[in-house]
Order: sequence, then structure tokens, then C-alpha cells
Amino acid sequence: MMKNIIFIAPPLAGKGTQSIKVCDEYNIPHISTGDLLRDEIQRKTKIGLQIKESMALGKFVSDEVITKILKKRLLEKDCKKGYVLDGYPRNIKQVKIYEEILTELGFPLGYVIFLNVDKDILFSRLLNRRICSNCGASYNLSIEELTPHRDNICDRCGHVLKARIDDNKETFLDRFNTYVNETSELIGFYRKRNVLYEIDANNKSADEIFEEIKKVIK
Ligand code: AMP
Repeated sequence: MMKNIIFIAPPLAGKGTQSIKVCDEYNIPHISTGDLLRDEIQRKTKIGLQIKESMALGKFVSDEVITKILKKRLLEKDCKKGYVLDGYPRNIKQVKIYEEILTELGFPLGYVIFLNVDKDILFSRLLNRRICSNCGASYNLSIEELTPHRDNICDRCGHVLKARIDDNKETFLDRFNTYVNETSELIGFYRKRNVLYEIDANNKSADEIFEEIKKVIK
């Protein structure tokens, strides 16, 4: 069975960290729409120039753009066994588009995993987040087990860690509100269909959360 995994979580809930653990465990690629978009910006492609401004403001990028880059990515060979989709779908409209993409590619929906974390905890993590500029691994300087072994250097690939330009209070609140207004609707949608696995990720270490995820993905 293909291990297609969707994570639903508020910003800073640790979905980046869990996605990487799951990918390492099952040897499947980590597909983050945020990373795909940042890559377009970095390469200064036509799409990149188009989306640069809205990304910096934490605004959603158009469905048309996301669908295009996502479909292209899912068609790559390494997705045959499955993949972790991180940051998509984010609203009901994208859920519907994603179903169309799955049908078109002949892929099953797979697992939908919801990481539930309270807003206060999320906010306290905000300013301490660091992302690897090369492989996308994420760290948090306020959480001991998520602190890199060497200052500002990625444990996995040795490249430099950076704060994300969209990690500031205003952007966080904006993204959190967007999550509440748009993404949280997905939880009800998938729950009704009996495909949602909810994990209480408050006050748990990344390893503890990962153990729970492994029980879900058999
Ligand atoms: P992330 O790295 O997942 O936190 O995403 C960073 C930014 O990329 C978001 O604030 C949006 O501007 C854009 N983005 C990522 N995924 C999506 C998506 N599924 N739909 C629309 N915009 C997205």
C-alpha cells in the first residue's frame, strides 16, 4: 500500500520535524509546498517572482500555482511508494483539487494525521525556530532535543541554519488565523470520512509524538 501521508497542524506544531522522521523511517520523500515555493523564489523562476511578495506576508499562494508545482512533483519516480505532504491541502478547495490530482494519478488518499497543539505553546516556539538552508530540516533553540549539536549547523547535512523570513509575530498571527479560518475545517471534513488520526502533541517530545505516528502508519 502506498504510504501517502497528509499532516494537518497549526503553524509551528512540529509537522516539519515529524515529516522528516516519517520520511527517514519509511524511505519516502518529504514534499512541502512551502519548500517547493521557496525553491521557485530562490531559483527566480517566473512563478517565483510572481509569488515572492505574498509568501513574505504569509499569504496563501494561488491554487493554480500550487496545483501545477505539486502535480509535477508527485509524478517524480521517488513518490511511487508514497510521500509525506506537508502544508497541503490547507483549505477545503485544495482538498477537492487534491482528490482530483489523486484520481488522475491513480493514488489512494492514505493517512491524514492531525497534530493538535495549543496556541500559547506555538507562539513561544516562534522566535526560536531555525531551518536548514539546504535540506529543510527544522530545529528549535527553545527545545533541548531540537537544538542542533553544533551552533547554527544542520546535524543532517552540515549546512547553515537560518531563521525564516516569515517568522515574526504579525506573520504568525496572520498564519494562525488563516489556519483557524481555513485549515481547521479540514479536520471535520476528514474526521467525518473516518480517515483522520488525531494526536495530542501538547507537552510531548518529538520522539513521543513520532512513536504515536508510527502506530498509525502500519
Ligand atoms: P510553510 O512552509 O508550509 O509554512 O508555507 C510557507 C508559505 O508558503 C505560506 O505562508 C504560503 O504563503 C505558502 N504556501 C505553502 N503551502 C501552501 C498552500 N497549500 N496553499 C497556499 N499557499 C501555500
